[in-house]
Amino acid sequence: MITEKLEKAFNDQITAELWSSNLYLQMAFYLQKEGWDGFAHWMLKQSDEEKEHAVELAGYLMKRGGTAKVSMIDVVPDGWGNVEEVFKHVYEHECHVSRLINDLVDVASAEKDKATQDFLWGFVREQVEEEDTALSILEKIRKCNGGAGLFYIDGELAKR
Ligand code: MG
Repeated sequence: MITEKLEKAFNDQITAELWSSNLYLQMAFYLQKEGWDGFAHWMLKQSDEEKEHAVELAGYLMKRGGTAKVSMIDVVPDGWGNVEEVFKHVYEHECHVSRLINDLVDVASAEKDKATQDFLWGFVREQVEEEDTALSILEKIRKCNGGAGLFYIDGELAKR
Protein backbone atom coordinates (compact mmCIF):
# COMPACT_ATOMS: atom_id res chain seq x y z
CA MET A 1 0.00 0.00 0.00
CA ILE A 2 1.32 3.40 -0.98
CA THR A 3 1.34 6.16 1.67
CA GLU A 4 -1.04 9.11 1.50
CA LYS A 5 1.87 11.53 1.05
CA LEU A 6 3.17 9.60 -1.96
CA GLU A 7 -0.32 9.25 -3.43
CA LYS A 8 -0.66 13.05 -3.29
CA ALA A 9 2.81 13.53 -4.81
CA PHE A 10 1.99 11.06 -7.62
CA ASN A 11 -1.28 12.84 -8.38
CA ASP A 12 0.57 16.18 -8.49
CA GLN A 13 3.01 14.67 -10.98
CA ILE A 14 0.11 13.30 -13.06
CA THR A 15 -1.24 16.86 -13.21
CA ALA A 16 2.22 18.14 -14.23
CA GLU A 17 2.51 15.54 -17.01
CA LEU A 18 -0.92 16.44 -18.38
CA TRP A 19 0.00 20.12 -18.26
CA SER A 20 3.19 19.29 -20.21
CA SER A 21 1.11 17.36 -22.72
CA ASN A 22 -1.11 20.42 -23.24
CA LEU A 23 1.92 22.72 -23.49
CA TYR A 24 3.38 20.61 -26.30
CA LEU A 25 -0.01 20.36 -27.99
CA GLN A 26 -0.24 24.17 -27.98
CA MET A 27 3.30 24.32 -29.41
CA ALA A 28 2.29 21.82 -32.12
CA PHE A 29 -0.65 24.05 -33.07
CA TYR A 30 1.66 27.10 -33.22
CA LEU A 31 4.20 25.27 -35.39
CA GLN A 32 1.48 23.93 -37.68
CA LYS A 33 0.09 27.43 -38.17
CA GLU A 34 3.58 28.68 -39.04
CA GLY A 35 3.87 25.99 -41.72
CA TRP A 36 6.44 23.81 -39.94
CA ASP A 37 4.78 20.43 -40.53
CA GLY A 38 7.76 18.36 -39.36
CA PHE A 39 8.33 20.33 -36.16
CA ALA A 40 4.57 20.16 -35.49
CA HIS A 41 4.53 16.38 -36.04
CA TRP A 42 7.44 15.91 -33.61
CA MET A 43 5.70 18.09 -31.03
CA LEU A 44 2.40 16.18 -31.34
CA LYS A 45 4.29 12.95 -30.57
CA GLN A 46 5.94 14.71 -27.62
CA SER A 47 2.50 15.70 -26.35
CA ASP A 48 1.26 12.08 -26.65
CA GLU A 49 4.34 10.88 -24.75
CA GLU A 50 3.62 13.19 -21.81
CA LYS A 51 0.08 11.85 -21.58
CA GLU A 52 1.51 8.31 -21.59
CA HIS A 53 3.74 9.30 -18.65
CA ALA A 54 0.63 10.38 -16.73
CA VAL A 55 -1.09 7.07 -17.53
CA GLU A 56 2.00 5.11 -16.48
CA LEU A 57 2.22 6.96 -13.14
CA ALA A 58 -1.51 6.39 -12.57
CA GLY A 59 -1.15 2.68 -13.38
CA TYR A 60 1.60 2.25 -10.82
CA LEU A 61 -0.27 4.28 -8.20
CA MET A 62 -3.38 2.09 -8.58
CA LYS A 63 -1.33 -1.10 -8.53
CA ARG A 64 -0.11 0.00 -5.09
CA GLY A 65 -3.64 0.58 -3.83
CA GLY A 66 -3.74 4.33 -4.44
CA THR A 67 -6.33 6.39 -6.28
CA ALA A 68 -5.35 8.24 -9.45
CA LYS A 69 -6.99 11.59 -10.07
CA VAL A 70 -7.32 13.85 -13.08
CA SER A 71 -7.33 17.37 -11.67
CA MET A 72 -7.98 20.69 -13.33
CA ILE A 73 -5.16 21.55 -15.72
CA ASP A 74 -4.03 25.19 -15.77
CA VAL A 75 -3.97 27.08 -19.04
CA VAL A 76 -0.67 26.75 -20.95
CA PRO A 77 1.30 29.60 -22.60
CA ASP A 78 0.97 30.22 -26.32
CA GLY A 79 2.40 32.52 -28.98
CA TRP A 80 6.12 32.00 -29.47
CA GLY A 81 8.27 34.21 -31.70
CA ASN A 82 9.91 31.50 -33.79
CA VAL A 83 10.98 27.84 -33.83
CA GLU A 84 14.13 28.54 -31.80
CA GLU A 85 12.06 30.14 -29.04
CA VAL A 86 9.75 27.10 -28.97
CA PHE A 87 12.60 24.60 -28.56
CA LYS A 88 14.36 26.77 -25.98
CA HIS A 89 11.11 26.56 -24.03
CA VAL A 90 10.95 22.76 -24.52
CA TYR A 91 14.50 22.37 -23.21
CA GLU A 92 13.87 24.59 -20.18
CA HIS A 93 10.59 22.82 -19.47
CA GLU A 94 12.25 19.38 -19.59
CA CYS A 95 14.87 20.59 -17.09
CA HIS A 96 12.00 21.69 -14.85
CA VAL A 97 10.30 18.28 -15.20
CA SER A 98 13.58 16.60 -14.24
CA ARG A 99 13.58 18.58 -11.00
CA LEU A 100 9.97 17.55 -10.32
CA ILE A 101 10.84 13.87 -10.82
CA ASN A 102 13.87 14.22 -8.53
CA ASP A 103 11.60 15.75 -5.87
CA LEU A 104 9.19 12.82 -6.29
CA VAL A 105 12.05 10.38 -5.68
CA ASP A 106 12.87 12.36 -2.52
CA VAL A 107 9.30 11.88 -1.28
CA ALA A 108 9.49 8.13 -1.97
CA SER A 109 12.82 8.06 -0.15
CA ALA A 110 11.44 9.96 2.86
CA GLU A 111 8.53 7.49 2.96
CA LYS A 112 11.08 4.64 2.83
CA ASP A 113 9.19 3.18 -0.15
CA LYS A 114 11.87 1.21 -2.02
CA ALA A 115 9.54 -0.18 -4.72
CA THR A 116 8.40 3.31 -5.68
CA GLN A 117 11.98 4.60 -5.76
CA ASP A 118 12.84 1.69 -8.06
CA PHE A 119 9.85 2.44 -10.30
CA LEU A 120 10.81 6.12 -10.50
CA TRP A 121 14.42 5.46 -11.61
CA GLY A 122 13.00 4.75 -15.06
CA PHE A 123 11.56 8.27 -15.12
CA VAL A 124 14.82 9.75 -13.82
CA ARG A 125 16.77 8.07 -16.64
CA GLU A 126 14.18 9.06 -19.24
CA GLN A 127 14.59 12.73 -18.26
CA VAL A 128 18.28 12.53 -19.20
CA GLU A 129 17.16 11.52 -22.70
CA GLU A 130 14.41 14.18 -22.84
CA GLU A 131 16.83 16.97 -21.92
CA ASP A 132 19.47 15.69 -24.33
CA THR A 133 17.04 15.40 -27.25
CA ALA A 134 15.55 18.86 -26.69
CA LEU A 135 18.99 20.47 -26.37
CA SER A 136 20.36 18.77 -29.46
CA ILE A 137 17.40 19.96 -31.57
CA LEU A 138 17.79 23.49 -30.12
CA GLU A 139 21.50 23.55 -30.98
CA LYS A 140 20.82 22.42 -34.55
CA ILE A 141 18.18 25.14 -34.92
CA ARG A 142 20.68 27.74 -33.63
CA LYS A 143 23.26 26.62 -36.19
CA CYS A 144 20.74 27.41 -38.94
CA ASN A 145 20.71 31.07 -37.92
CA GLY A 146 17.17 31.46 -39.20
CA GLY A 147 18.23 30.21 -42.65
CA ALA A 148 17.11 27.48 -45.04
CA GLY A 149 18.71 24.76 -42.88
CA LEU A 150 15.53 24.88 -40.81
CA PHE A 151 13.69 23.18 -43.68
CA TYR A 152 16.11 20.26 -43.42
CA ILE A 153 15.50 19.85 -39.66
CA ASP A 154 11.76 20.18 -40.29
CA GLY A 155 12.03 17.26 -42.75
CA GLU A 156 14.08 15.17 -40.32
CA LEU A 157 11.64 15.69 -37.42
CA ALA A 158 8.74 14.64 -39.68
CA LYS A 159 10.22 11.11 -39.49
CA ARG A 160 9.64 10.71 -35.78
MG1 MG B 1 7.02 13.48 -18.93
